Amino acid sequence: MCQQCEETIADVWSKLQVGQTFKTPDLYRGVDFHISKKDSNKLKISPQEVSINKAAFVAAVHYLRANDHDMDSPCEIRSSNSRSTAGPLCIATRDQINNVRCVTYILPILQKSVVVGVNPVRPNSTWLLRW
Ligand SMILES: [Zn+2]
Repeated sequence: MCQQCEETIADVWSKLQVGQTFKTPDLYRGVDFHISKKDSNKLKISPQEVSINKAAFVAAVHYLRANDHDMDSPCEIRSSNSRSTAGPLCIATRDQINNVRCVTYILPILQKSVVVGVNPVRPNSTWLLRW
């Protein structure tokens, strides 16, 4: 991880609030979720009851930045419950939280913070807005 990505997420983190609502990225199968708990190092997402640490958010931004995924070169999200079919962005984030799939929660939060863009049409893709 690098300092730049840590700083991006520190800024996002300071503005997140319990109760904020989001929708997972897929246009047809997107589901609603909200932040039900927040501390200095992790969030809890409900009603899915998934805890996501800050490192997973940093990993997402870092992956997009390291691989030059800007608007002209979006990254397919390729989220999957199965690690063997998950794409590299999904893997990079779940590696931070004991292999729990979390990229579909991380991206809408980063999107609302204007850090990434998300294309909800399949194949769903994302790209970094804030370099
Ligand atoms: Zn980085």
